[in-house]
Amino acid sequence: MHVTLDHNAKTPVYLQIKAAVLAAIRDGKLAPGARLPATRELAQQLGVNRSTVAMAYDELLADGVVESFVGRGTFVARQTLAEVARPGGRVPQRTPSHKMVWEGIFSERAQSPVVESLLDLYQVSTLRDVISFSGSFPDATSFPTREFRNSLHFAERTLGDEVYRYGPVAGYERLREYLARRMCESGAQVSTENIIVTSGSQQALDLIARALVSPGDAVAIENPTYPGAMTAFALAGARLLPIPVDEQGLCVDVLENVLKVQRPKLVYVVPSFQNPTGACLSWERRLRLLGLAQEYNLPIIEDDYGSHLRFDGDSLPHLKALDDTEHVIYVSNFSKSLLPGLRIGWCAAARPVIVRLTAFKQNSDITTSPLLQSALWDFCRRKRYEAHLERIRPIYRARRDAMLARLAADFPAGTTWTKPAGGLFLWVTLPNALDATELLYQVRQQGVVFSRGRLFYCDNPQRNTLRLSYGHVTLEDIERGLRIIGATAKAMLSRAVTRTADRFHSCTVPLV
Ligand code: PMP
Repeated sequence: MHVTLDHNAKTPVYLQIKAAVLAAIRDGKLAPGARLPATRELAQQLGVNRSTVAMAYDELLADGVVESFVGRGTFVARQTLAEVARPGGRVPQRTPSHKMVWEGIFSERAQSPVVESLLDLYQVSTLRDVISFSGSFPDATSFPTREFRNSLHFAERTLGDEVYRYGPVAGYERLREYLARRMCESGAQVSTENIIVTSGSQQALDLIARALVSPGDAVAIENPTYPGAMTAFALAGARLLPIPVDEQGLCVDVLENVLKVQRPKLVYVVPSFQNPTGACLSWERRLRLLGLAQEYNLPIIEDDYGSHLRFDGDSLPHLKALDDTEHVIYVSNFSKSLLPGLRIGWCAAARPVIVRLTAFKQNSDITTSPLLQSALWDFCRRKRYEAHLERIRPIYRARRDAMLARLAADFPAGTTWTKPAGGLFLWVTLPNALDATELLYQVRQQGVVFSRGRLFYCDNPQRNTLRLSYGHVTLEDIERGLRIIGATAKAMLSRAVTRTADRFHSCTVPLV
């Protein structure tokens, strides 16, 4: 096989090697079953790094052109070759056709304003090349990827084909057992039968909404709250009943007044490091909320994305740990505390709830990846999850502290903010004259973004609020980014003051 490399070409070297192998196969110089040169040998011959040749071989492997056997080497595949390597086979002519007209095709649901707001959120959270305080992402540089890869290999080696088959709808048994045990250790009365593994917490919320909410039902929900919960309930046809949140979390007395006149189907609450405010529901309110749930036969959806992300103060029991009457439907995940890309969450609830959620999950995605679930189980049973939590908490504390310092130093007088004892974000209220949307627009030109507070309200949005996430932002970026937001807010405020003064002067008439 002859390979000529052009180091000045735009095509990366590994792709040039791949092309040369394909050409050799096409020209019959490498027959099906022939052995490719060893990566070290070819690398030496071409004067390139061995990993470059390995990348070329990986590509060929992924395309099915070659097969690789540990200890034996890489060989031209025997079967699929003809199709893969055939030179530009004839493409059948296509007849001209009418382009699909999508207007008027979408369901009523897909045209609702809820979907618009989802698209809006998605755009902001996926922006690149900016300092982003939006989204609520964990720190990717701390991901325990090497350890997790070991667990993946372990799962694959020990479980074999099983991890590539459809798994049980309710989840990988051993992971469910582990989750039930962990919840029991924190005081909850649950067994494996009370657990369903979901594709992230978001799926759990979606399944709960489908199983419990009929169109027109009222759902009591924190205001402001996590938009993914609002959209899950709203898309199921719920009427959202906003319940305010203060520094101690959901205002349970307001909920009580609402319950006296309306009968919401359920209440949704994020008791630990509430999204977006970072508030923690106080002990006393936790007990009162459970009392109300019993009095009004009201299911509580407890979204616990982050009690394990506490870096200051004593932890509080989650609601499920205080619930001996099966009122709480507990939802949690590994997305903020470990790896969001696993898409693994779970729900712990009374058996009749789990049965229905399982039916809806069957209809939604059949199962959450058995490979990832079994790898996660292995990762957890080796106590690597706890070790990871120990490692990341101080990182988040340092970032929270840096945020608090910059807010105090750079933001205009009259700004207030929360001081969360855990989690990944805090909540800022600017002086009344400022509009966070306008501020976002201005700082975006300078390479910084954040989440406008109004996205988190289902009612009466406060224009001067914003959520600043720090979980994934480095200390340097926190420093730089908040300086920019603070300075811009100050400049906007002084312009607003001048405008108000101008207006005042132009409207005044002399007192005579
Ligand atoms: N609940 C809350 C409060 C969240 O903040 C999030 C993610 N932002 C979710 C649920 C969804 O989590 P997951 O990524 O596991 O679906």
